[in-house]
Amino acid sequence: MAAAVTIALALEGQLRLDDQPALHQAVALARQRRARLLVLACRPEGQRLRGPHQRQLEAQALASLHARLAAAGIPLLAFPQHITAAALAELRPMVQPEAVLQAQESRLFGTWPVAAERFPSVFSQFRRGLERDPEPPLPPPDLAGLGDAWDDLPRSWLVPPAAPPAAAAADPRSAFSFPGDESAALARLQHYLFASDGLRHYKATRNGLVGTEFSAKVSPFLGVGSLSVRRIWQEVLRYQELHGADEGSEWMQQELLWREFFLWSEQRHGDAFHAPGGLQNRTPDWVEDRERFVRWTRGDAGHPLIDAQLSELLATGYLSNRGRQWVASHFVNELRLPWIWGARFFEWALIDAHPALNTGNWAYLAGVGSDPRSFGGSPRRFDLERQVRLYDPGQTHRQRWSRPASLPL
Ligand SMILES: Cc1cc2nc3c(=O)[nH]c(=O)nc-3n(C[C@H](O)[C@H](O)[C@H](O)COP(=O)(O)OP(=O)(O)OC[C@H]3O[C@@H](n4cnc5c(N)ncnc54)[C@H](O)[C@@H]3O)c2cc1C
Repeated sequence: MAAAVTIALALEGQLRLDDQPALHQAVALARQRRARLLVLACRPEGQRLRGPHQRQLEAQALASLHARLAAAGIPLLAFPQHITAAALAELRPMVQPEAVLQAQESRLFGTWPVAAERFPSVFSQFRRGLERDPEPPLPPPDLAGLGDAWDDLPRSWLVPPAAPPAAAAADPRSAFSFPGDESAALARLQHYLFASDGLRHYKATRNGLVGTEFSAKVSPFLGVGSLSVRRIWQEVLRYQELHGADEGSEWMQQELLWREFFLWSEQRHGDAFHAPGGLQNRTPDWVEDRERFVRWTRGDAGHPLIDAQLSELLATGYLSNRGRQWVASHFVNELRLPWIWGARFFEWALIDAHPALNTGNWAYLAGVGSDPRSFGGSPRRFDLERQVRLYDPGQTHRQRWSRPASLPL
């Protein structure tokens, strides 16, 4: 019997069926060629080692996707150590795909939203310069008829990827208490936009520190690719059709555009984006005190407010945006440590770690990135005592995170 024609889709870290343009192309091609479909989950090129919290979420997203594809007779082969080219080489003795389509990271815009040669250094100019609206998401495709018995693959390759490591029971104090798979991502989005009053009040609550509801908690899903940012935008538009464009929904759109700004900014500036001197090419002014840094990575920064933030980060991988700002500002201005050390540690520890978003924010706070106030001046400095009065007047966060995780709340 002639070998079946195979079309492969490489997920490149995008672990979902919803809004996957490359999956639609693969499906169309497979139907045209009367081929079967194969899906590969490899390590995206250049991706650094992920920390335990993000790995756990990724494993959950992968296991769920495996089951959904298996139901349609489509194998999902996971090669966590390999990039796609290496995985294809390993596969070649058994299966040679006729075409391999590669998924792309979810962005609101498929091509430069502001011309690359005019790409601005600051967000306000980016927002004003946007040349068109975000693109709509695609629904999940119909996968019927694209499966096969896959007798040419070792049976052991078709079993589900190893179950997520038996994680210590999730910390009951966590602000992100959801599994990482696509259905959990979509359920969270619906809850925050339509079931609770979350989005409506987002502008007022977004600087919160404690609980699941002060912000959308979608970044961990975006980080492992189990949610599409176009789907979020589309649902915000649907919310606005139903309830009108209120402050909360408009502020959410602005935050999603911040994400877009950093993604395109990284693409525009390449290595300079991640360099110690940042986009501004400033001479680093810091103290390379390794001992102080190691203490910081263990949650001992020498300031109770920051220690509580670090304690939350280490226990759960999630930290509020306000908490991240305090920690980074303290790291740069008070400890005077190299911001790139802090950024690299966050990239390992965060449950939503994303190199462009993380570096973009750290560089902003270190005064070498896109903070308009920092051009020619100093980084912005947070007065922590004032911040506590504003955002944690009852010291709820500090009390919560200065206790050992095992104690009842
Ligand atoms: C030092 C520092 C490091 C950061 N590192 C990361 C990171 O590695 N990964 C990451 O996803 N976010 C990072 N952020 C941005 C922000 O803190 C998180 O996106 C946000 O807290 C995630 O929670 P949420 O989904 O509930 O956000 P919400 O407040 O509900 O916002 C919705 C979405 O808007 C986007 N967004 C919000 N704020 C920002 C921002 N400042 N920059 C870019 N996009 C934003 C995110 O996609 C977020 O999921 C960092 C911020 C700071 C100050």
